[in-house]
Order: sequence, then C-alpha cells, then structure tokens
Amino acid sequence: MRALVVDAVGAIGVREVPYPKPGHGQVTVRVESSGLCGTDSHIYHGDFLSTYPVIPGHEFAGTVAEIGDGVSGWEVGERVAVDPSVFCHECFFCKTDRGNHCLNWNGIGVTMPGGLAEYTSVPAANLYRLADHLSFDEGAFIEPVSCVVFGHRRLKPQSGDKALVFGAGPIGLLHTQLLARGGASSVTVVDLEERRLNLARELGARYTVAAGPDQDEQLSELAPHGFDLVIDATGVPKVVENAFRYVMPTGKIMFFGVCPKDETIQVSPFDVYQQDLEIYGSFALRYTFYYARDLMTEGVVRVEPLISHHIGLEEAAEAIADPGRYPDRMKIMVHPSRSR
Ligand SMILES: [Zn+2]
Ligand SMILES: [Zn+2]
Repeated sequence: MRALVVDAVGAIGVREVPYPKPGHGQVTVRVESSGLCGTDSHIYHGDFLSTYPVIPGHEFAGTVAEIGDGVSGWEVGERVAVDPSVFCHECFFCKTDRGNHCLNWNGIGVTMPGGLAEYTSVPAANLYRLADHLSFDEGAFIEPVSCVVFGHRRLKPQSGDKALVFGAGPIGLLHTQLLARGGASSVTVVDLEERRLNLARELGARYTVAAGPDQDEQLSELAPHGFDLVIDATGVPKVVENAFRYVMPTGKIMFFGVCPKDETIQVSPFDVYQQDLEIYGSFALRYTFYYARDLMTEGVVRVEPLISHHIGLEEAAEAIADPGRYPDRMKIMVHPSRSR
C-alpha cells in the first residue's frame, strides 16, 4: 500500500510500505479523509515530539478494514473516526486525569503510524463511530474540533462574554463557532485576509477587523474596556504579545496557536497582577473526542466551509514540505487512495 513517510527531519516522500495487519487489540482502518495540520510541518522540521521514520496524519476517518485478536464490538465496513491520543494509563499524569501530559505519551501520526496512508492500524479503543449523515471529511475534523473543545472546557467562557479571536484559519473559526453558540454576546475576529473575515462572519463572528494600522482603533471602539476573552489562533509571537492590550481587567487570554518553540514574548507582570488576568495554554486534547463528535453530529459546528483543498498523498508531501505552495490554504483534506 502507499503511504507518506517522513524518514528523518527534512526527508519526506510517498512510497510502498507493507500493509499494516492489525495486532492484538487493534483494528486496521482504510483511510478515506485525512486532514493536514501545522503539526505535520513541525514533524517534518523536527520541532515536535516525533520519532522517525513516521507516517504522519493525526486527523482522519475511514472504514474498518480488518479486526485484530481480542477486539469485539466492531465490524468490517463500519465508518469511524480515530482519536490519535495514546496514553499509558499508568504514569503520574495519567493517574491524575491529565493524560495529554502522559510521561509515556504517544500519538497516532506523531510517534505511531498515522492516517496519511491507504491503511493504518490503531488501537480499537481509539475508534469512534461516525454517524451516517457525516462525511469522512467531517469525521477527519473531529480531532481538531476536540482540541478546541478541550480549550473551551478549560477556558469556561461565560454567558455574555465579549470574545476576541486572532486568526481566521480553521482553528480560529472553530473557536468562533463554539463561542458564538456558547453564549458570547459578540465574537470579533481579526485576520489579515478579507476572504477569511467574510467566512468568519458567515460562521458566527459579529464583527471582523482587518489586521493592520487601524486595528487598535477599531477594537477599542468595539470594546472600550477590553474583551472578556482573547484567544490567539495564529501562533505568531508578536500577535500573542499584542493580545494583552485588548483583554479587560479580570479577563482571560488563551494561547492556542502553536508558536515556534524557541520564541519569547514580553509580558508585563504588573499588568497581569493588577488586572487580575488569567492566562491559559491548551495542549492537544484529552477525553474530549465524544463531545467533539456530538457537536459535529448535531450540526453545531460547520466544517465543510473550512476545507480549501482536496488532494492526494504526493501533493500532501509537497504541502507539508513547502506550505507556501498553498498560500490560500484553509484545511487541506488528503484522500490517500486518490492518485495525482
Ligand atoms: Zn492537528
Ligand atoms: Zn501516562
């Protein structure tokens, strides 16, 4: 079968690899849709937790192709989405309900073979049934949605909050949808691109602001005392640093976008102290896959408008190695059986 393989940092390609027979407790999934994520490029560049060689792809859905020993409750042909989190359930963090910080953490598509392949075998425990009315593309979106759900369950937005989101990519617009549906009095989205801001308004943003010289004035008109919630979904350190200017006293700020590992920003500790600020991080997901699947199943979150491209494995290798090749990208959906 064909798979996209990152052999080492900076070495990527599509090649024939052995079909993955399901081991004990495992199921082999025929992958129909597999979303690309910034993490895949981090794996390619060596700034994530990966081991090499690895088949990336941690956001995917497909059908059950073969069932291993010791697995019950699944049938060949069932439509499934896969939670990529593999926790040890034995370490300090697992035993204190914080599996995403597992000391023996593994991720399907990060440290274990993932969904950028025609087939992949995964622990049966990681499978979730996909409702018939959901597409495989929607199934592949459950993983990023569950990361956003994890963030919101930490942030606990309050009814009536004025929210501000930086970045109208797929993640920023998932935050926007959940905030708009979750009782925010308004959601304001900032981005550089008009096209993305239009989409933000379509998906629930009350106000949009073009990033640039007029941004400050427009944001202070919208929220003279600042915003209750500010979420960064850009991963750009300068944007995160600036975000502190827009949060009101007692407000919350969440670093959701993935900034480059070695970057730093300047924050005034006096302001954090004097303004009773709350600062949140949010890493991956833990135990939020069901919630995300239900949000998709019930149509609360719309993801089809967030998909910009449908491509095969060869183009996926190019998109990971050279993201500049898709300047207008939103979510890129890879269909491993599709040839160029
Ligand atoms: Zn991801
Ligand atoms: Zn653990």
